[in-house]
Amino acid sequence: MRTQVAIIGSGPSGLLLGQLLTEAGIDNVILDRVGKDHILGRVRAGVLEEGTVGLMDKAKSGARLHAEGLPHDGFSLAFDGRDHRIDLHGLTGGKRVTVYGQTELTRDLMTHREQSGAPTIYDAANVNPHGFDGITPYVTYEKDGITHHIDCDFIAGCDGFHGVSRKSVPEKSIRSFEKIYPFGWLGLLADVPPVNHELIYANHPRGFALCSMRSMTRSRYYIQCPLDEKIENWSDDRFWDELRHRLPAHHAEALVTGPSFEKSIAPLRSFVAEPMRFGRLFLVGDAAHIVPPTGAKGLNLAASDVHYLFSGLAEHYQDRSNAGLDAYSTHALARVWKAVRFSWWMTTMMHRFPDTSDFDQKIQEAELDYLTHSRAASTALAENYVGLPY
Ligand SMILES: Cc1cc2nc3c(=O)[nH]c(=O)nc-3n(C[C@H](O)[C@H](O)[C@H](O)COP(=O)(O)OP(=O)(O)OC[C@H]3O[C@@H](n4cnc5c(N)ncnc54)[C@H](O)[C@@H]3O)c2cc1C
Repeated sequence: MRTQVAIIGSGPSGLLLGQLLTEAGIDNVILDRVGKDHILGRVRAGVLEEGTVGLMDKAKSGARLHAEGLPHDGFSLAFDGRDHRIDLHGLTGGKRVTVYGQTELTRDLMTHREQSGAPTIYDAANVNPHGFDGITPYVTYEKDGITHHIDCDFIAGCDGFHGVSRKSVPEKSIRSFEKIYPFGWLGLLADVPPVNHELIYANHPRGFALCSMRSMTRSRYYIQCPLDEKIENWSDDRFWDELRHRLPAHHAEALVTGPSFEKSIAPLRSFVAEPMRFGRLFLVGDAAHIVPPTGAKGLNLAASDVHYLFSGLAEHYQDRSNAGLDAYSTHALARVWKAVRFSWWMTTMMHRFPDTSDFDQKIQEAELDYLTHSRAASTALAENYVGLPY
């Protein structure tokens, strides 16, 4: 088989890139080691920047997102028993975010890909990129006991943090930067109305909490937990009680509870691999970087990488220029590091660290106080939260 761009990974970055390429008339094949249902069963991000929404439109996959997504003009920071609203819309000159689950975005992209007839190979075992340091790269994979070979011009490594693409790069050619946080997030999904019409980020002596949502009837809640916490120790009742403790009283009283249908613990990590291009192999999204979810940036960063790579590939095929591809790593990393900084800062400001000294605690309180009394500080937060420009 031959294609122009072989895409490893059928998560949001692989599907979005594939759909943009297909719309631009550039052949591509997507390979994933798992099946469609497995991918759609993963509950992850849910806050989209305007840039991400714009890319979904460009990929002709934004119709349901516009019909069902919830535009949010602000969110609340809760601490010291009170709420402070960050007016995203007012502070950024009219920008907002859209609440729409990653699962739904993925489903929309898959549906459009199927309609366009572009090939996706699910349940592909032992996917491997080869020859990307030369001019004839190819990808091999196994399916039903047979080894297949796809010749291509370029390989896009959209296969997430644990994928094969980054691991295929010689160690001497890549540098990584990492920070592991000493806690995780215990998340719960339930079909109950959200406690507030906007998200609440809460800093409490018992730990961080986030009140988020997928729709006006489906809520996503998180609480900070120790890294070695076991999910089986958390009944729904225990979770709801703990969440109530961490919210200001008026929200705790308004909280509607119900049976959960998903509960999981996610560790928090910041990670960046540099560069993001190795000859004809490009790393995209979580394959190159991970951020803690506090700033809602993971999925949005995957989308901005796709923007830079798609522009470079379109220039290559349509204008016979490699300028965009040559600049991919530099442009993508400049935006990545700013989002890494923002996610680290939000995480540091909103969580209780196990080794926090009295001094550290006072600094955190001063930071929150300054943020809520300074328009300049609130504007900097809002500008980063809605997403820096591409
Ligand atoms: C538990 C969890 C919760 C999260 N919550 C949030 C959140 O609240 N907000 C936020 O912004 N972000 C969140 N994120 C991050 C966000 O989901 C990711 O940034 C986003 O999924 C990145 O998309 P991606 O396509 O780059 O990678 P992925 O979504 O990881 O997709 C990679 C794809 O590659 C496939 N793959 C992997 N290895 C191979 C291989 N060897 N061969 C072939 N295919 C392979 C995988 O099956 C997968 O389908 C969360 C992530 C996790 C794990």
